[in-house]
Amino acid sequence: MISFASLRLCVKCFFLVLLISASTVAQTKSGSHTSRARASMSAEAKALLDEAIGVVCTQAKLDPKSSVAIDEMQARPSLPIQSPEAREGAERAQRLLPLTKSLMIASLEQLANEYGFEKSPAFRQRIKQAIARVNSVKRVRPDMDSRDNASVYLSRPHVITFGTIFLAGLRSDEGMISVLAHELMHIADGDNDSLRPLVSAIGNKASDLTGLEIHGQRSEEVTCDLIGAMAVRAFITTTPGYESLARRIARSVQHNCVELDEGDEDHLSPRNTIRALLALNPVLVRELINDREDRKSP
Ligand SMILES: [Zn+2]
Repeated sequence: MISFASLRLCVKCFFLVLLISASTVAQTKSGSHTSRARASMSAEAKALLDEAIGVVCTQAKLDPKSSVAIDEMQARPSLPIQSPEAREGAERAQRLLPLTKSLMIASLEQLANEYGFEKSPAFRQRIKQAIARVNSVKRVRPDMDSRDNASVYLSRPHVITFGTIFLAGLRSDEGMISVLAHELMHIADGDNDSLRPLVSAIGNKASDLTGLEIHGQRSEEVTCDLIGAMAVRAFITTTPGYESLARRIARSVQHNCVELDEGDEDHLSPRNTIRALLALNPVLVRELINDREDRKSP
């Protein structure tokens, strides 16, 4: 009897959850019910996207400077601030902060142009204020308790707090720049979500392209990740080297190459994060596929 009762309860909960999520979806859809053209992906583009994700996560295993996957970071013991790996990461983050600020600002301006927001004087003003917030960031604060997270407290907007496990797990300049630029985008958006029209437009496009539900906070997270990948791509252009383009681009997203692929209401799962941001940036897909080491050898 007990088991039957609890089973019924579970079934009821399950339907309730379905109803709630269905109405949420309906609201979101009607809220954004405009005449915007829906983006879509051809079967060929989807196949290329899968191939590019494969390159990113294969590089995670081959590249000695690859970023550690988030789930692996989560399983690690906390790391003291004074440990050599955490110190090296903190120095890297602080050294790259000024450059990342300018790369991030250029990426934000590029996105505003691409999505047609540069025509709006009101939005141009918001971008200007966002840039001022980014420029006021001065410091990376290593924090043992933050573990594998980086965060910005909007009450302390000049500081990016960075868990020591995360500092140590991002072993390349590319990996570090992508996460710094991500946090700077949160700062740019500010505590009033002032860039919400751009963020929503990006989320809507990512939803259309992938079929995933990317609205609300999820749009902001995906936009932050997109800005991170764009900042890294610009960094690679200004610092040519012997490593393949694919290897270096992969570092901007490969902390998402997890085994345990779970998301929540505010975040897509890590692997879906890679999918969404590569869907938004097909140039990266082509570069990941075409500029691998194995295609370079004679
Ligand atoms: Zn974030």
